Amino acid sequence: MSEPLLKVENVAASYGSIVALKSVSLEVYEGEIVTIVGANGAGKTTLLSCISGLMPYKGSIAFKGEKLGGKIDSAGIVERGVIQVPEGRQIFSDMTVHENLLMGAYSRKKGDNIQPELDEVYELFPRLEERNWQSAGTLSGGEQQMLAMGRALMSRPKLLMLDEPSMGLAPILVEQIFEIIRTLHKAGTTILLVEQNAQAALSIADRGYVLETGKIVTTGTGAELLASPAIKKAYLGG
Ligand code: ATP
Repeated sequence: MSEPLLKVENVAASYGSIVALKSVSLEVYEGEIVTIVGANGAGKTTLLSCISGLMPYKGSIAFKGEKLGGKIDSAGIVERGVIQVPEGRQIFSDMTVHENLLMGAYSRKKGDNIQPELDEVYELFPRLEERNWQSAGTLSGGEQQMLAMGRALMSRPKLLMLDEPSMGLAPILVEQIFEIIRTLHKAGTTILLVEQNAQAALSIADRGYVLETGKIVTTGTGAELLASPAIKKAYLGG
């Protein structure tokens, strides 16, 4: 195989005396959807924070063969196209939908034409176009998730990291969000998807990693993990 787009090697991270990650290694290849599934507190968000340069860690994280961290801080990581959609969305509530999307393009060069991205985002999420004047804080949970994803897409990510996009959404919206993730994947976006909803995440993922209390305990294709008795027992309700 060619070189991975993202290579995480022996990453360990702690909050004071609380060890959140212990020697985690994983790879994401260009064009893949890779999912990290695991229960509450397994360390999923912490891992994304390390990749984004928001959390100190031991070990090494490389993107396109270039080591992140050190001189390449969180802004440099965003510039390289590694974009995280945080859990809880963190949109700018007092700004309109349209303004939120423009904020997503802030890492683009001055004078860059961002209209094509805006058109694409509105095509993918017609609901956002209908409501482009609305202040983001008044959107429904599902719409806010769409906005957070749309905002990330405005920067033309090379690696899109989604932290629990299905959190707090009704089943029908979960389906819609996963359908959109599938569409993004088909369009060529590489995706690292963190989810508690293991069933949904493994169903769309090329490969998955199971994280338990800071350690990767199993890895395989999405289909292999879905069929595994141990995974069924622990994460898929029997
Ligand atoms: P969830 O699915 O509930 O979001 P997660 O898998 O994303 O969980 P993390 O948020 O990465 O898990 O948390 C991993 C561990 O680190 C947990 O034990 C958590 O309590 C702890 N932790 C996370 N953030 C902090 C913090 N700011 N200070 C102290 N401990 C923290």
